[in-house]
Amino acid sequence: MVDQKLLVKEVKKIVSRDDVKYVVGYKKGTHGFTISPAFAYSSEYVEKFIFNPLCKKNLAVYPILEEKLPLRRGDEEDTRKIGVVVKGCDARALIQIIQEKGLKREDLVIIGIPCSGVIDIRKLNSKLPNTKEYSEIIEDQDEYKITINGDVHNFAKEELLADFCTSCVAPNPLIYDVLIGEKVEPWAVQDHVGIKSLEDKKVLERWDYWEKHFQRCIRCYACREACPLCYCETCMADLLEPQWIRRSVNISENTAWNIMRAYHLAGRCVGCGECESVCPVNIPLMELNKKIEKEVKEMFSYTAGMDIEEKPLFGMFKPDDPEEFVL
Ligand code: SF4
Ligand code: SF4
Ligand code: SF4
Repeated sequence: MVDQKLLVKEVKKIVSRDDVKYVVGYKKGTHGFTISPAFAYSSEYVEKFIFNPLCKKNLAVYPILEEKLPLRRGDEEDTRKIGVVVKGCDARALIQIIQEKGLKREDLVIIGIPCSGVIDIRKLNSKLPNTKEYSEIIEDQDEYKITINGDVHNFAKEELLADFCTSCVAPNPLIYDVLIGEKVEPWAVQDHVGIKSLEDKKVLERWDYWEKHFQRCIRCYACREACPLCYCETCMADLLEPQWIRRSVNISENTAWNIMRAYHLAGRCVGCGECESVCPVNIPLMELNKKIEKEVKEMFSYTAGMDIEEKPLFGMFKPDDPEEFVL
């Protein structure tokens, strides 16, 4: 459990610094079990900051969205740092972006929170449908205790835990300036649930499986917007000249989009599960991400976002890299 008072106290200290522009963290959403990003430009806004097992969103997406607007004559560039609250997988996203030179470490103040897993809100909504508001969610040993209108609902942790957390390799942030709370004991990593059944399928069965999913894709690009590693200035999906993917929503173009997205994240995806959780039609994107992550690990002994000093996978070459797949 994170000490909320300590979180607020530390964030207040950080946001009061002259060299910090704002801090982004979490606050309670406006309905049900939703959680929203909270932006504090001064200490008075920090009181609403919280951290609980519903704080799943990867906030590493915000520093990367910071827009550097053209300066008017006489204006000086705003070089202040951005503070960001991170769990283990969010910190891995920052490491990956820093490796790729998308952000500079010195431009960030990282408030790390050791994480023992987050709740999959879809699982929770199916257990407690139509909940308008909760008063408290706490994790106690292997249980979640959820208080609604004075009644406490207990659930075994495994009933609500997000699937991607079972394969988490770094629940404790690997980089931080301030750590809120004690480090957690890492757990035995399990393969993501979908991979085994995916690998057991024959090629045509796999095609049927993905065709059924991809034809439901509405090309809203929520998966791209939520992903901290999807930060190209111009996404290939938006290019008109050349036009790699047409705007039409059909199985051919949807497949092109989903395969392109997954391959552009090869060796870069940190497994935070954001893409899958925001998909409005529940396409199991983590099965694709995890399958590629596994292949990358087996071929190159590489896991994304683990070491700030390491070069990104596609930014280095080793003479003994496997090349069997090169035609
Ligand atoms: S993947 Fe790891 S760090 Fe991320 S939410 Fe799950 S347990 Fe926490
Ligand atoms: S979020 Fe889902 S529906 Fe939207 S583009 Fe991505 S895969 Fe398609
Ligand atoms: S592809 Fe999905 S799981 Fe991977 S980093 Fe992006 S949002 Fe997270």
